[in-house]
Amino acid sequence: MPAVRVGIGFDIHRLEPGRPLVLAGVEVPADRGPVAHSDGDVVLHAVADAVLGAAALGDLGEHFPDTDPVWKGAASAGLLSRAVDMARAAGYRPAGADVNVLLERPKLAPHKPAMRARLAELLGLEAAQVNIKARTMEGLDAIGAGDAVAAQAVVVLEGASTA
Ligand code: MG
Repeated sequence: MPAVRVGIGFDIHRLEPGRPLVLAGVEVPADRGPVAHSDGDVVLHAVADAVLGAAALGDLGEHFPDTDPVWKGAASAGLLSRAVDMARAAGYRPAGADVNVLLERPKLAPHKPAMRARLAELLGLEAAQVNIKARTMEGLDAIGAGDAVAAQAVVVLEGASTA
């Protein structure tokens, strides 16, 4: 029976008008987007951190410092792929993921299927093994005011042959 490992991830970025909003690799039409060194994709950042956590490999900031020009404006898909590769090298592969997106607007329902498909693809999983949930903060705090977007992620890894 393969070993199963669980990791948790979180990310938050400030939002400003006139920037693209990219979530799980999908550009969502919106009047504001994240201020970030990379593309500011909170979903992929939270999932990548959860992958590293499940493999006991530290955190994103250690491996991909935001002072590194390589990641300036970078698509976070590359960052998640690197984290998955590191987990594989440690003997684990993704088995499932669940994500909460915390965003006041716009509504994400029309975009969830594309986000789910893209996240599954990046993790090497079927869409049925990945879940994306979205909720508002009911007008509370900076997220509720529309000034930030955040994501929480849980990832399960299972033991894999590295042969
Ligand atoms: Mg981030």
